[in-house]
Order: sequence, then structure tokens, then C-alpha cells
Amino acid sequence: MRIESLARFPLAQLPTPIEELKSLARELGGSELLIKRDDQTGLALGGNKTRKLEFLVGQALEQGADTLVTAGAAQSNHCRQTAAAAARVGLRCELLLNGTKPELPNGNLLLDELLGARIHWIQPSERVTKLRELPDQLREEGHKPYVIPVGGSNGVGATGYVLAMVELVEQLHAINRRVDHVVFASSSGGTQAGMVVGAKVTGFAGTLHGVSIDKDNRDGAPYGYELADIANETAQYIGFDAQFAANDFNVEYSYLGGGYGVVNDLEREAIRLLASREGIVLDPVYTGRSMGALIDMILKKAFRSNETVLFWHTGGAPALFAYAQDLV
Ligand SMILES: *Cc1c(COP(=O)(O)O)cnc(C)c1O
Repeated sequence: MRIESLARFPLAQLPTPIEELKSLARELGGSELLIKRDDQTGLALGGNKTRKLEFLVGQALEQGADTLVTAGAAQSNHCRQTAAAAARVGLRCELLLNGTKPELPNGNLLLDELLGARIHWIQPSERVTKLRELPDQLREEGHKPYVIPVGGSNGVGATGYVLAMVELVEQLHAINRRVDHVVFASSSGGTQAGMVVGAKVTGFAGTLHGVSIDKDNRDGAPYGYELADIANETAQYIGFDAQFAANDFNVEYSYLGGGYGVVNDLEREAIRLLASREGIVLDPVYTGRSMGALIDMILKKAFRSNETVLFWHTGGAPALFAYAQDLV
């Protein structure tokens, strides 16, 4: 493997802490619960994109780019963290956001503006074309754009989560604890793909459960194939000789609720429970849903009482403020 020699720009505060969720575990009964605090990675309020951006920005700088271009939802955590990374390293940032400009920006969008990103409002159906046209236009203007895919989910970005898995295994070794299940939100796939590659690199024996936020399992569960593609690209990028297939990924498809970014009781109750019992803030789109899934899995006795379950907090709390009307 050649992880040490890959281009990387330090942006994250690592390792992120592992904490015990004692009150929550007591209330739910059953398994011991741990939480890995990737909401505390640093970089403009943190989140899972920081680890990916270390490698993406590293490659952008190596290629002599002067502008980062990426796309996402109006409340995209990935776009906010990309804007912050660009500001930190002195690059320009151009964001393609879904929808129309609101009268007053809030949450991640407010941060995008403060961080100095240039925002282009588009329709979701235009995304693929605009992700090609905007860089072409920037090149014509004499810029050197570096395009980051949605969620930073390619082999370069997912490399951050291979190392996150190495970090987890080292931390568990140091405190002499075993984790049987890891539960986390999965959407554009780089996090899950990187973790699965990392589990193979380290020999991690626990089960990784990606809670699908927005992909369903109709038509042969295409998300599994996307995850395998990203994992294979990652293995190749880091020089790790392994092949991944769709059935190497556990995806929980039962928690799609009202769809992407729609807050229902599952998310609302999980957010309130973690806030009121543990003083931990979840987000309305990803961690509220994946923690809701974890709670449901515990209540349905998906785990044995002598097993330890780790919730991997992937960040996102800035979006809470933009969803206030759905949470109170
Ligand atoms: C992007 C994001 C995820 C999903 O990670 P992917 O790598 O896109 O699957 C989970 N949680 C939060 C808070 C995110 O912003």
C-alpha cells in the first residue's frame, strides 16, 4: 500500500474521540453503545467530509488547481466543508446548489456565503450537465478548476475513511474494547466504501451497517454496485490488492421515511433523545435518521445484549437551524 505517499492536506483534528453512551444504553436496554465523534473533525463545524477533503484537496493542490467545484443540496454539509477547505488553502470555491436562492440564508448555506463560496442555483436535473459546463467555462476564463464529485465520494475521497477505520481499530486496541457492530448514515457512498476497504486492510471483524438515507433497493439494489465501484477505485488508489462486490456491503434500506431531507418522527425522536440524554447534537438529514435506525434496531433486538454497538456520528448539525420548523 502507498497511503503514506498520497497527496494529503491536513484539515482534520484527529483522532476524533470515542465516547460511551451510557444513559442512552440504560434507557434502551441491551447492548453497550459507543459513539465515534466525526462531528468533531474540525473545519467549519466538522463532519465526515473533512476526512475526504484532506485527500481531495491534496490532489487538487498537486494538480495546480485554483478553484474547487462541487455540487449538492442547498443544505449540503459537503459543500459547506468544501467551501471551508478552499478558504483554508487559498483556493476559490464554486458550488452548484439545488433549488432557488432563499430570501435569507441559514444553516450550511449561511456558512457557504460567509466562507466566500460562489453559489450557482440549479435544478437537480441539470446537475450532470452543469458539473461539466461550469468547469469548461472556468477554464475558458483562465482558471484551473478541480471538480469534486457529489459528497466527495470517489476513490480519492473515500481514502479518508480507510484511514478512519485504521484510526478506530487503533483506538479500540488502546482501550482494550471490541466493537461488534458499527452503524452510520450512507448516502453518496464514500464513507461506507472507505470503511469497508479499511475493515479489510485492518482485519476489523465487526459488521458495518450503512443506513441508506436516500437510495432504495428496487431494481436490484444498484447502491451496492455503486459502493463496490467506489471501494475498488479506492483500493486501486491506495495500492491495496483486493476486489469488492455489491454483497460486501450491508445496507439498511428500511429507514428512507419521507425521502431525502424529510423529517419525520423517527428523526425527530432520535434528535431529541440524544440531545436530552447525552448532550449530543444530531442533524435532521443524516444522523437523526441513522440514529433513529439504530434505536429501532436495538428495540427490535437486532443485536445481542452482550454485543457492543458503535454509532459513527458523521456530523451535519449546522443544518438543524434551517430545519427549525420541522423540529419543534
Ligand atoms: C455526506 C454525509 C453523510 C453520508 O456520507 P456519504 O459518504 O455521502 O455516504 C452522512 N452524514 C452526514 C452528516 C453527511 O454530511
